[in-house]
Amino acid sequence: MLGHVHPDADVLGTLMALGLALQARGWQVVYGGPHPAPGALGFLPGIERYEVLKSVEGPFDVAVLTDCPNPARTEGLIDQAHAAASVVVNIDHHPDNRRYGHVNWVDTSAAATGEMVYRLLVGLGVPLTAPIATNLFTAIHTDTGSFRYSNVTPATFQIAAELVTAGADPAAVSSAIYERRATDSLRWLGESLARVRVSDDGRVAWMALPSGAVPETFIESEELVNYPRSIGSVRVACLLRALGAQVKVSLRGKGDVDVQRIAARFGGGGHPNAAGFTVPGELEVVTRDVLAAVREAVGS
Ligand code: 5GP
Ligand code: MN
Repeated sequence: MLGHVHPDADVLGTLMALGLALQARGWQVVYGGPHPAPGALGFLPGIERYEVLKSVEGPFDVAVLTDCPNPARTEGLIDQAHAAASVVVNIDHHPDNRRYGHVNWVDTSAAATGEMVYRLLVGLGVPLTAPIATNLFTAIHTDTGSFRYSNVTPATFQIAAELVTAGADPAAVSSAIYERRATDSLRWLGESLARVRVSDDGRVAWMALPSGAVPETFIESEELVNYPRSIGSVRVACLLRALGAQVKVSLRGKGDVDVQRIAARFGGGGHPNAAGFTVPGELEVVTRDVLAAVREAVGS
């Protein structure tokens, strides 16, 4: 079960759900990816088995990737998986998925890969245990911004209802995601919010974080880009964070500007309302270039 860089709850929850189902049928499963699971997702059942993998030592019968659109998002692990496993399975909901597997199941209408893995497990007749349900419910919960984004459909709620029936606890998941901040985190949030800037016409808002401004673990555990996005007039919000000699950029839209197209210009990808990329360069220079592209797309 192979995860992508900076793993989130959609990739981790689906890998764990699939792996737990396979383990229950007697399979031996290895879980991992290029980066560790963030501490904030330590409550996902089974997540302690997710390892940092710099290489894939086979042989394996099957390698599964979820929520991962292209090989670069695994820092080379997919290429190794092709050598180490007879079958590579690619389950994803990104429109820019590159179909790198032997089996490629890409459903861009799914709000989360969690919806797809739910359908798969139900189709296979797998009993939905509480640990499996909690993993899938959290995957859907986070990829829909707690059931608020435009990707939410009636099916999202129907699947969520089935997962709650199977033992996922919505209050416990919400509390684990939103009410476990570190003691100093509101101070770091203040540091971050003080850096929010808004264009004169109010249509673009951004936040640029130099390295060391706030701890990495804090940024990983917060969807900081949602703060500039929350301004009423804003059409596109950006978070830019310096990471060594690189800058990691998150873009968010509200339905009228396709941010995936902006990200693609910088070699990244994502969804129409949520996309990202990482580029080498100084924070100030990258910020200027990204804002120029965003303003052009927004007509700001
Ligand atoms: P985030 O801003 O939370 O890192 O990512 C938001 C969305 O953009 C996710 O769907 C993620 O898959 C996508 N994304 C972020 N960074 C990259 C990237 O470097 N390449 C691609 N292809 N997609 C990215
Ligand atoms: Mn996803």
